[in-house]
Amino acid sequence: MSKSSNRERAAKTCAGASGVPLGRCRKWAREGLISPHQPVPDASTKPQRRLEAFVVNTLANTFRDRQLDGSVLGINKAEPSLDSLELQLHPDMANHVIAALLPRVDWEYGGLKGVPGLRPRERGGHLVLEDVSGRAALRVFQPVGERLRLPQGRRGELAVWRKSPRRLHGSEEPDLAAWQGGSREREANFARDYLLSRMLRRPRLLNRVAKAHGFANSYTHGYSDLVVEWCCAASVEGMTSLLRRSGLTSQPTGLVCAASESFPGNLDLGPSRVVVRRLPQCTIPYDLISEKELTATHREEYLR
Ligand SMILES: [Zn+2]
Repeated sequence: MSKSSNRERAAKTCAGASGVPLGRCRKWAREGLISPHQPVPDASTKPQRRLEAFVVNTLANTFRDRQLDGSVLGINKAEPSLDSLELQLHPDMANHVIAALLPRVDWEYGGLKGVPGLRPRERGGHLVLEDVSGRAALRVFQPVGERLRLPQGRRGELAVWRKSPRRLHGSEEPDLAAWQGGSREREANFARDYLLSRMLRRPRLLNRVAKAHGFANSYTHGYSDLVVEWCCAASVEGMTSLLRRSGLTSQPTGLVCAASESFPGNLDLGPSRVVVRRLPQCTIPYDLISEKELTATHREEYLR
């Protein structure tokens, strides 16, 4: 294949996976930032990948099967670069995304919720969610409507991000340590951070699974993986092939691992895994509720 058609292929895959305008993806391809092997730029530093991966873990377990308009993690578009990531949030889910990510101790739950070490900052009139160390950040946008809002404190919660704006709070340390793991899990966690950070950088692909009804089911097993289930939309083969072609499971430098045996729907990068699963039957109980009523119930939750 010629150099220019390779570039065009990389640019089209990048635009289709992330939502970055095609013209800019073509420029990236010309500059050598993207290639058919890796059409969406990876985060180049460990802290940035860790932050993005933790964000995926938190949002997947927050929204589960109550998303709107097919926005699986509440994200419509991503603008990835090597050292940062801009996210365009779903207009009605945006403030819930922010509230879910900022860390707080929930006494009733008995522990920390959100991404440990994450703090809101204002930079040039924009909201930036930054790691307290200052080594990783997400710029978040809402396409239309009201400005993004920081969450109000709730009864029974300690807003750690407000209590300790410049330093890691003691309550955040255990979750951060558990995420990083010990020396035996180092390789698995290194791979997991790559894989999940790449998922955050491909919202347009991920959101395809929620095309039929506007929602899918997302969750994780602790800190180890990401599972996305859906009904009535894309086939498992179609989704895995699109995600693989977008470079989701391409081997990054610094990770040496044998390819593991693959089961349909498993997207493995070394010892880490994303599972995509199409359920055999429709999940909407039509005898009890219509799709329209179900969506209206979800929307009401976000607008409350
Ligand atoms: Zn269905």
